[in-house]
Amino acid sequence: MRDFSGDHGWLSINTATVRKSSGVELPLPQIIEACARRGIRAISPWRDQVASAGLATVSKLVRDHGLALSGYCRGGMFPAIDQAGRQAARDDNRRAVDEARELGAACLVLVVGGLPGALAGRAAHKDIALSRSQVTDGIAELLEYSRSARMPLAIEPLHPMYAADRACINTLEQALDLCEQLDPLSTGADAGADGTTQPAALGVAVDVYHVWWDPKLQSQIERAGRARQMALHVCDWLTPTVDLLNDRGMMGDGVIDIARIRGWMEDNGFAGFSEVEIFSSANWWQREHGEVLDTCIARHRSAV
Ligand code: ZN
Repeated sequence: MRDFSGDHGWLSINTATVRKSSGVELPLPQIIEACARRGIRAISPWRDQVASAGLATVSKLVRDHGLALSGYCRGGMFPAIDQAGRQAARDDNRRAVDEARELGAACLVLVVGGLPGALAGRAAHKDIALSRSQVTDGIAELLEYSRSARMPLAIEPLHPMYAADRACINTLEQALDLCEQLDPLSTGADAGADGTTQPAALGVAVDVYHVWWDPKLQSQIERAGRARQMALHVCDWLTPTVDLLNDRGMMGDGVIDIARIRGWMEDNGFAGFSEVEIFSSANWWQREHGEVLDTCIARHRSAV
């Protein structure tokens, strides 16, 4: 397992973590400058932040600073009530692939969607199995496009508390079932440690906040192997958690054994960035972004 205690070479900042500085929206170019000044080598930006700053502007900044993108957030939200809705999702996801490619992202992260309408407060139906089948169809279709663009797709299973409004894929097992169904890997004589000969077009993003509780986590990480592990998102689970979405903790402040999970991933071939992704409306978004980034660097060394 890599030793992170001496430097932050494998730290990535999910830019939602400093989306606000002292409670005020912080534009992506300023986030990028602040990361670069601290020797942070990678970020993972959100589409709305990129759109606000302009794709060309962000692309140039990323290149000028030699930044890597550990991922791009995000595609998905496949289920819809009608064909027009599914078509809109299809078109939007293709644009997300194009943007990810322009920015040189390692993968496009997919938050797959739940019951249509639930995110806006009113679910159109209660048929989660229907949503799951629409997710399968949506990813299958997007894969044709993302493969031709050589942009890997990383399914992010979300904690079951988000099954209605954000993602009806809730465990690593469920995500990997879908990977194997839609993107079977070939194996052969020149196979790597996990038996695969090709980089996967479809894999998973392991966000410790969503999966830390899962009794099958270690075995599913083994199953994912080198080819399917595309991203590691870190933060911490606070007790108590006062907001289901925007009360994520800084690494080391909660109950997740992050280092153990990272160890399992690295034992199975993961060698990428550890991406700090903290949504925190009452705490970290109220602080000055420089303080937040400096704390991320310190906790990356001590608690990741
Ligand atoms: Zn995440």
